[in-house]
Amino acid sequence: MADTIVIGAGIAGVTAARLLQAGGQRVVVLEARDRIGGRMWTDRTAGFSVDRGASWIHGLTDNPLTELVAELGMDAVEFTVGSYQAGGRPIADFDEEHRRFDADETRRWLADIDTADDLLLQASAASAPGETYADVSERAIAASGFDGLRAARVRAFHRHRTEEQCGTDIDRVAAHGLDEDAIDGDEVILPGGYDVLPRSLAAGLDIRLGQQVVAVKWSEAGVRVETASDVFEAARAVVTVPLGVLKAGGIRFAPELPEVVTGPIERLGMGVFDKVFLRFAERFWEDGVYAIRQHGEPGFPWHSWYDVSAVSGEPMLLTFAGGDWARRIEAMDDDAIVASAMQGLRANYGDAVPDPIAHWITRWGGDEFSLGSYSYVAAGASHADHDALATPVGGVLHFAGEAAWSTDPATVHGALLSGHRAAERILGAEIPIASLAEGARPESD
Ligand SMILES: Cc1cc2nc3c(=O)[nH]c(=O)nc-3n(C[C@H](O)[C@H](O)[C@H](O)COP(=O)(O)OP(=O)(O)OC[C@H]3O[C@@H](n4cnc5c(N)ncnc54)[C@H](O)[C@@H]3O)c2cc1C
Repeated sequence: MADTIVIGAGIAGVTAARLLQAGGQRVVVLEARDRIGGRMWTDRTAGFSVDRGASWIHGLTDNPLTELVAELGMDAVEFTVGSYQAGGRPIADFDEEHRRFDADETRRWLADIDTADDLLLQASAASAPGETYADVSERAIAASGFDGLRAARVRAFHRHRTEEQCGTDIDRVAAHGLDEDAIDGDEVILPGGYDVLPRSLAAGLDIRLGQQVVAVKWSEAGVRVETASDVFEAARAVVTVPLGVLKAGGIRFAPELPEVVTGPIERLGMGVFDKVFLRFAERFWEDGVYAIRQHGEPGFPWHSWYDVSAVSGEPMLLTFAGGDWARRIEAMDDDAIVASAMQGLRANYGDAVPDPIAHWITRWGGDEFSLGSYSYVAAGASHADHDALATPVGGVLHFAGEAAWSTDPATVHGALLSGHRAAERILGAEIPIASLAEGARPESD
């Protein structure tokens, strides 16, 4: 019998399992998929890395990933636009008439968004319970005194930022929903593929792939975990399945979980955020820009294209769909999605822009082992709900994963830290996060 069963081999699961095993425990990890990494998933079928899940380390300062990635020898490329920044790095901004902003327009736009964001912070600080991010955005725009076009640009920007950061529409997010959104330091992407990280941390662990957990029976004496084909027993379990799976009742708990855990599961939202990678035979956009951005009304639904050519060495753009638009594209076929995204690009670069020679499209909302992309603070929820989700149950059940970390939910480092916290609680001791890299072998295809 194992000491601990970890359910899910994403970054939270492998972190918890590795630290528990290093602490002397017998650990078994049960993973439903036929691969390790969960929402860190690198597609290498084309001979280069395409990260279908996470791509960015969101802020290198005070981030445990910074040292970990360096110790594992993973190459990193600076790419500080991963959090829907308006500026800070060169961006090809296009106006409503599809003309490129000149330097003055860019300066005015950045000043406008700074003003609006300061007002938005004040509005969310003064917001009443139950108010949404849409409410405080509108209040900030009204307070700015901006006229029609300037107001419309700020409004579109706030909407798109929410869709990207939360995977949902602005009127579903709590007024405080993006409070945790500050980025400390540069951001980077990983040309060798982000899933090298969870796969390296998985080295030496007992991970059973293809084991979809369907039921967890628990008492203070221990846990009995049932998969479609097997039964596993242990003194305790760490549950790291995504919030989408918990919300859908994908695992039956007996006895039922207490309200301290079911409350956050119900109140927090699970967003949908999908990626569309477009590979072109030749580059048709300008050198030296991190992203192309369409402002104002014409930016619905496609508004931002990120130049990720540094990852593949090929001319590649990455665009996103979040919220309702993401759910809608998941029902469309690939050709229709590519045609739609190309319409947005051609509006700015001309009808002569050729079709892409390859594309990669994700559908995380329909992925049965994720049922969404990441969690967000829905109207009526609070950041405290993230940590409350990790309240130990009966001394034997520990929840971890990005949704269970309040300061940086929806991130790789938040998920990792939640796995670290679960291991510390179980071992009853502080564990230096740096010890995670000990004995981890760099793994790639
Ligand atoms: C498109 C996209 C882009 C993103 N971009 C970024 C980014 O750039 N930077 C960033 O920091 N974060 C990003 N994120 C978020 C980041 O990927 C996640 O926060 C993080 O990987 C979550 O790790 P986790 O261990 O909590 O969950 P997961 O990685 O989802 O791991 C949970 C595991 O549980 C397994 N599982 C599910 N159900 C069962 C079951 N019944 N039985 C057994 N196993 C089960 C799943 O298969 C999965 O492997 C992105 C996510 C998506 C979807």
